[in-house]
Amino acid sequence: MSGDSFQVQFHPRLGIVIYDPVAQMGLAREQMRLFKLGAMSASTFVRSIVSKDIVACEDQTMAEHADEVDAYRTARSRRRKPYCEQCRRHFGSVDFTVCGECHAIRCTCGTCGCASSSRRRKAA
Ligand SMILES: [Zn+2]
Ligand SMILES: [Zn+2]
Repeated sequence: MSGDSFQVQFHPRLGIVIYDPVAQMGLAREQMRLFKLGAMSASTFVRSIVSKDIVACEDQTMAEHADEVDAYRTARSRRRKPYCEQCRRHFGSVDFTVCGECHAIRCTCGTCGCASSSRRRKAA
Protein backbone atom coordinates (compact mmCIF):
# COMPACT_ATOMS: atom_id res chain seq x y z
CA MET A 1 0.00 0.00 0.00
CA SER A 2 1.21 3.48 -0.79
CA GLY A 3 0.53 6.56 1.26
CA ASP A 4 -1.35 8.31 -1.52
CA SER A 5 -4.68 9.79 -0.65
CA PHE A 6 -5.91 9.42 -4.22
CA GLN A 7 -7.07 6.20 -5.84
CA VAL A 8 -5.90 4.89 -9.18
CA GLN A 9 -8.74 3.05 -10.89
CA PHE A 10 -9.65 1.67 -14.26
CA HIS A 11 -12.62 2.43 -16.49
CA PRO A 12 -13.14 0.39 -19.70
CA ARG A 13 -13.86 3.50 -21.78
CA LEU A 14 -11.82 6.18 -20.03
CA GLY A 15 -8.77 4.09 -19.27
CA ILE A 16 -6.89 4.76 -16.09
CA VAL A 17 -8.52 7.39 -13.96
CA ILE A 18 -7.51 8.94 -10.68
CA TYR A 19 -10.12 9.66 -8.06
CA ASP A 20 -8.73 12.35 -5.83
CA PRO A 21 -10.83 13.24 -2.77
CA VAL A 22 -9.38 16.76 -2.66
CA ALA A 23 -10.47 17.45 -6.26
CA GLN A 24 -14.18 17.05 -5.63
CA MET A 25 -15.04 20.62 -4.71
CA GLY A 26 -17.81 22.61 -6.34
CA LEU A 27 -19.65 19.54 -7.62
CA ALA A 28 -23.23 18.47 -7.23
CA ARG A 29 -23.75 15.39 -5.12
CA GLU A 30 -24.39 13.20 -8.18
CA GLN A 31 -21.16 14.32 -9.85
CA MET A 32 -17.59 13.21 -9.49
CA ARG A 33 -14.36 14.54 -10.93
CA LEU A 34 -11.87 12.08 -12.37
CA PHE A 35 -8.40 12.70 -13.69
CA LYS A 36 -7.87 10.80 -16.93
CA LEU A 37 -4.30 9.63 -17.05
CA GLY A 38 -4.28 9.19 -20.83
CA ALA A 39 -5.33 12.80 -21.47
CA MET A 40 -3.60 14.21 -18.38
CA SER A 41 -6.74 16.17 -17.63
CA ALA A 42 -9.65 16.06 -15.23
CA SER A 43 -13.31 15.92 -16.22
CA THR A 44 -16.58 15.93 -14.36
CA PHE A 45 -18.79 12.87 -14.67
CA VAL A 46 -22.17 11.73 -13.42
CA ARG A 47 -21.29 9.49 -10.54
CA SER A 48 -23.99 6.88 -11.08
CA ILE A 49 -23.03 6.36 -14.73
CA VAL A 50 -19.28 6.26 -14.44
CA SER A 51 -18.81 4.60 -11.07
CA LYS A 52 -20.59 1.38 -11.99
CA ASP A 53 -17.92 0.57 -14.57
CA ILE A 54 -14.94 1.54 -12.46
CA VAL A 55 -12.78 -1.30 -11.22
CA ALA A 56 -9.56 -1.45 -9.27
CA CYS A 57 -6.49 -0.91 -11.39
CA GLU A 58 -4.52 -4.12 -11.81
CA ASP A 59 -0.94 -4.18 -10.63
CA GLN A 60 0.39 -4.75 -14.13
CA THR A 61 -1.55 -1.82 -15.61
CA MET A 62 -0.45 0.25 -12.65
CA ALA A 63 3.19 -0.65 -13.27
CA GLU A 64 2.92 0.22 -16.97
CA HIS A 65 1.65 3.68 -16.12
CA ALA A 66 3.74 4.35 -13.05
CA ASP A 67 5.36 7.36 -14.73
CA GLU A 68 2.04 9.09 -15.41
CA VAL A 69 0.79 8.38 -11.91
CA ASP A 70 4.07 9.79 -10.66
CA ALA A 71 3.61 12.91 -12.80
CA TYR A 72 0.20 13.45 -11.25
CA ARG A 73 1.54 12.90 -7.76
CA THR A 74 4.38 15.36 -8.37
CA ALA A 75 2.13 18.04 -9.88
CA ARG A 76 -0.24 17.65 -6.97
CA SER A 77 2.43 17.92 -4.30
CA ARG A 78 4.41 20.69 -5.97
CA ARG A 79 1.72 23.31 -6.21
CA ARG A 80 2.55 26.06 -3.79
CA LYS A 81 -1.00 27.24 -3.25
CA PRO A 82 -4.25 25.29 -3.28
CA TYR A 83 -5.78 27.84 -5.64
CA CYS A 84 -4.88 29.43 -8.98
CA GLU A 85 -2.73 32.52 -8.62
CA GLN A 86 -4.35 34.01 -11.71
CA CYS A 87 -8.11 33.52 -11.34
CA ARG A 88 -8.17 32.51 -7.63
CA ARG A 89 -10.27 29.43 -8.27
CA HIS A 90 -9.45 26.50 -6.05
CA PHE A 91 -7.73 23.68 -7.93
CA GLY A 92 -10.10 21.25 -6.24
CA SER A 93 -13.05 22.88 -7.98
CA VAL A 94 -11.86 23.06 -11.60
CA ASP A 95 -11.30 20.48 -14.34
CA PHE A 96 -7.57 21.03 -14.29
CA THR A 97 -4.91 19.51 -16.53
CA VAL A 98 -1.24 18.78 -15.99
CA CYS A 99 1.10 20.83 -18.18
CA GLY A 100 3.40 18.75 -20.36
CA GLU A 101 6.05 21.47 -20.22
CA CYS A 102 6.44 22.38 -16.57
CA HIS A 103 4.63 19.33 -15.17
CA ALA A 104 2.58 21.53 -12.89
CA ILE A 105 -1.17 21.65 -12.52
CA ARG A 106 -2.73 23.91 -15.14
CA CYS A 107 -5.91 25.74 -14.27
CA THR A 108 -8.85 25.99 -16.69
CA CYS A 109 -7.84 29.64 -17.22
CA GLY A 110 -4.59 28.37 -18.75
CA THR A 111 -2.28 29.24 -15.88
CA CYS A 112 0.41 26.72 -15.00
CA GLY A 113 3.99 26.80 -13.74
CA CYS A 114 5.26 28.05 -17.12
CA ALA A 115 3.67 31.48 -16.71
CA SER A 116 4.76 32.01 -13.14
CA SER A 117 8.34 30.90 -13.77
CA SER A 118 8.68 33.30 -16.72
CA ARG A 119 7.26 36.05 -14.50
CA ARG A 120 9.87 35.24 -11.93
CA ARG A 121 12.62 35.32 -14.55
CA LYS A 122 11.49 38.76 -15.71
CA ALA A 123 11.29 40.06 -12.16
CA ALA A 124 14.77 38.82 -11.33
ZN1 LIG B 1 -6.97 29.95 -13.02
ZN1 LIG C 1 3.41 24.75 -17.83
